[in-house]
Amino acid sequence: MTSLPTTDRLLLGPGPSPVSRRVAESLAAPPRSHLDGELVAILDRIRAQLTRVMRAPDDALVLAVSGTGTSAMEAAVANLVEPGRRALAIVTGYFGDRLSEMLTRYGASVDRLPVEWGQAVDSAAVERALGKHAYDIVTIVHGETSTGVRNPIDRVASLVRAHGALLIVDAVTSLGAVPLDMAGWDVDVCYSCSQKGLGAPSGLSPLAFGPRALAKRVACRSFYFDLGLLSSFWIDRKYHHTISAPLVYALHTALGEVEDEGLPSRLARHEAVHRRFVAGLSDRGVSLLPAEADRLWSLNAVRVPDGVNEAAVRAALLTDHSIEIGAGLGPLAGRIWRVGLMGSGATPENVDRLLVALDDAIGRAGR
Ligand SMILES: *Cc1c(COP(=O)(O)O)cnc(C)c1O
Repeated sequence: MTSLPTTDRLLLGPGPSPVSRRVAESLAAPPRSHLDGELVAILDRIRAQLTRVMRAPDDALVLAVSGTGTSAMEAAVANLVEPGRRALAIVTGYFGDRLSEMLTRYGASVDRLPVEWGQAVDSAAVERALGKHAYDIVTIVHGETSTGVRNPIDRVASLVRAHGALLIVDAVTSLGAVPLDMAGWDVDVCYSCSQKGLGAPSGLSPLAFGPRALAKRVACRSFYFDLGLLSSFWIDRKYHHTISAPLVYALHTALGEVEDEGLPSRLARHEAVHRRFVAGLSDRGVSLLPAEADRLWSLNAVRVPDGVNEAAVRAALLTDHSIEIGAGLGPLAGRIWRVGLMGSGATPENVDRLLVALDDAIGRAGR
């Protein structure tokens, strides 16, 4: 009758991350419509949870866009960009490039600050770029999932602030996994997704607009992503779209798990699991692409050892061990594996299981 999957698969790629049993079960809670009192009460709680987990300032507008991380990216851009606005896109990989592309589509005149894939942006380079023109907007990716690099948002934010531009930060692979402090770093706009560090299914994406960004909004050309209309739904309870109740339940439960664990413990868990994986790789003579100081705990860009057939290893992991890891993108295709250890997937048991499976897959299929 149906053809749904029936076997478990350990999702250790660049996202989605595994969903805990509680989060999975919450998807089946009794449905409510999008304006039901019980549902909108959960939306209020999600806004409060997200404000805490993103460390958004109290006067920020915080909600979740119905869509994946890319929809929150688009909402951030669509509400701040119109023709004539000048933007600096810091491009450290695939997702920084996607942001740059979106800025262009919405009519900004865009300068790119390209950084070699696998490196974090150097704040001196940001300062030089900011000195050349007056920019309205600067965009940067916190955790660059294509390269496993974490960019220094705190340093970049203070430079951008000093130059009077707005800073949009992509926190899709960092939220819930590595430290992120929107208020403390004075970031203007921050967005994420549900299916990476937070451990929910994809489909609802956190978005926070700080006060300066709220004041500089443009007349949004997208109806679906119009922040005014979105806040009239989330806050004033006016119909805009039929938000998915199961996804609301799942995000609320996942955020509850983040807060039950405690954010500091959760971040420490991601760091410890990352270090365990790096140590296991190093015992096998395998290293990561980024320099140690620039590494993102939640996404490990593993250099494929010389002479190893990376696609055959991924295929063997999938078929023989039911473990999914990711391939390299763009210039890193064939050169790295992308291993996500995030959300409920970031456990020492998963690291150990993956290392044993990698030994087996490389031994049997890799050469
Ligand atoms: C995954 C990802 C996105 C896009 O998110 P989707 O949920 O796939 O739309 C954007 N930015 C970064 C850094 C990501 O890792």
